Amino acid sequence: MAIIESKYIWMNGKYIAWKDATVHVLTHALHYGGSVYEGIRAYEILATLGKDGKPSKKIVSGIFRLDEHLERFINSMKAISMKPKYTKAQFKKICIEILRKNKIKDGYLRPIAFYGYERLGIYWGGLPVDYAIAAFPWGPYLPGEMKLKMSSFERLSYRAVKIEAKVGAYYVNSNYATEYAKNVKPFADEALLKDVDGNIAEAACANIFFVKGRTLVTPKRGKILPGLTRGSILEIARDLGIKVVERDIKPSEIYGFDEAFTTGTATQVTSVVKIDNKKIGSGKAGEVTKLLAKTFDDAIHGRIKKYRKWLTVV
Ligand code: PMP
Repeated sequence: MAIIESKYIWMNGKYIAWKDATVHVLTHALHYGGSVYEGIRAYEILATLGKDGKPSKKIVSGIFRLDEHLERFINSMKAISMKPKYTKAQFKKICIEILRKNKIKDGYLRPIAFYGYERLGIYWGGLPVDYAIAAFPWGPYLPGEMKLKMSSFERLSYRAVKIEAKVGAYYVNSNYATEYAKNVKPFADEALLKDVDGNIAEAACANIFFVKGRTLVTPKRGKILPGLTRGSILEIARDLGIKVVERDIKPSEIYGFDEAFTTGTATQVTSVVKIDNKKIGSGKAGEVTKLLAKTFDDAIHGRIKKYRKWLTVV
C-alpha cells in the first residue's frame, strides 16, 4: 500500500502539515519498538438507506468500527504501560476531523502512540508519549484469492508478550514470517503462523478461518490478535445461521477443510486457495467464503441496516 499524501496530520494536539509530522532520531520507540497503533478504514457509503429500502443519493464517509478500534488502541497503550492522555471520545473526534480536513471519504486512518524523546535506557517507565493520527486516501479493495505458506517462524508467544495488543515491535515477527513466505519456495502471498503450542494461530497480518460444511472454525482468542474483521465475521456468520467454533486447530487438520479465508482491515475477507501449494477444498473460493465476503462488503458499505451500527458517519 503506497501512501498517498494528504494535507494534514494530527500530532500531539494539533493539526499540522503532512511534511511536519516528524520525530527525532533518538525517539525511544524507534530503538525499542514501544509503539501501539491501529489501522482503520473509512468507506464511501450512502448517507441513508432511505425508507422502503430506497437509498439516498448523497455519498458520505463511514468509518468502520471506529469505537472498537479506539478501544483496542487504548487497551494496547495500557498493555505497554502508557497512561492514555486522551479519551476514546477525544480520539473519535480527531479521527472524524482529520478525514474532514483532508476531504477523504474512502480512506485509511492510522492512529499511533509511541514512547518519545527523553533518554535511551530501555525501560519505558516515566517516558513521554507522543500521539498522532494520520489519514490518507485508500481506494476500494478488490477482492482476490491468496496462497499461504506455513511459516518456520512461530507466532510470538502469548507468554512472552501481551499478544492481544497491537504493538509495533510485534511486527518484526510478522515480517520474518512474510519474508519467509515470499522468498522460500514454494512462494506464497502471506505466511500462516503456528502458535507456540503447535496449533494454527493466524496469518502475518490477518486472522484465519476454515470452513467445513456449514461450520466456521477459527483459532480461539488468547494467542492471536483479536481482529475486528474477525469479530464482525463471527457476528455475520451467526446471523446467517452458520455455526461458529472457536478452538485450537492442528496443522494436520487444514487439508480436511472445504474452504479457508483470512480476515483483516487491509484485505478484508480473502479466500485462501492453497496452503504450501496444496489445494484447500476445490482450490477455488468456496460458497460460504463468498457469502461471508459479500455480506461483509455490503455491511462496510452501509447497505445492510442492522450493520449500520458499525459505521460512524462523517
Ligand atoms: N492479526 C494481526 C497480527 C494483524 O496485524 C491484523 C491487522 N490489524 C489482524 C490480525 C486483523 O485485525 P483487524 O481485522 O482488526 O484488522
